[in-house]
Amino acid sequence: MIHPKEEKTFVMVKPDGVRKGLVGEIIKRFEQRDLKIVALEMFQATRDQIDNHYPKDEKWIRRLGEKTLGTYEKYGRTVVDLEKDFGSSDLLEVGKQVRGWLVEFMISAPMVRMVVQGVHSVDMVRKIVGPTMPYMADMGTIRGDFSVDSPLMANVERRPVQNLIHASETPEEAMHEIEHWFGTKTIYQYKRFGIDE
Ligand code: UDP
Ligand code: MG
Repeated sequence: MIHPKEEKTFVMVKPDGVRKGLVGEIIKRFEQRDLKIVALEMFQATRDQIDNHYPKDEKWIRRLGEKTLGTYEKYGRTVVDLEKDFGSSDLLEVGKQVRGWLVEFMISAPMVRMVVQGVHSVDMVRKIVGPTMPYMADMGTIRGDFSVDSPLMANVERRPVQNLIHASETPEEAMHEIEHWFGTKTIYQYKRFGIDE
């Protein structure tokens, strides 16, 4: 087992985060919580890179569709509305459309990719970032402090929910994503004052 302090997670500042000038603010929030940035780069993603970043399995894509239907139902809209907006009520088909919007969005401007290390870094980063839907995110989280998007609005505008950041959800996802985005690049090692010595 690796030492708990060595747990790493993968984070990307999405195009909306970069265009809102939040790169510094986002890094600051990780660093102030004693998480360590061990790799960092601004880059322009290709369509292929994003297509390979988000899972392609039916289960994940259907989950996107289920999330969408969930929001519809929560706000008094029905499967009929879903069918009207997406041309289908098949949740896999709905998920595919949302995934497609996501891919286009992620290549619409440069992003910043990083590897963040520290105790429970995967869960800590998700907590600092806040939940997927910005309108549900508590103040004090990055999404809650700097964004207000909702899928209700995003679906009508045929675009993904803009929530500033991507962050791995599990250590397994983190491992794959670090390999995908930093495979041939250097992950640095250094001692943070007050944390590592
Ligand atoms: N997304 C969306 N509509 C949805 C669910 C997700 O546009 O109903 C987008 C959103 O940008 C999200 C991304 O798809 O960040 C990936 O979804 P996931 O459930 O993995 O959320 P995350 O891990 O980013 O919080
Ligand atoms: Mg996710």
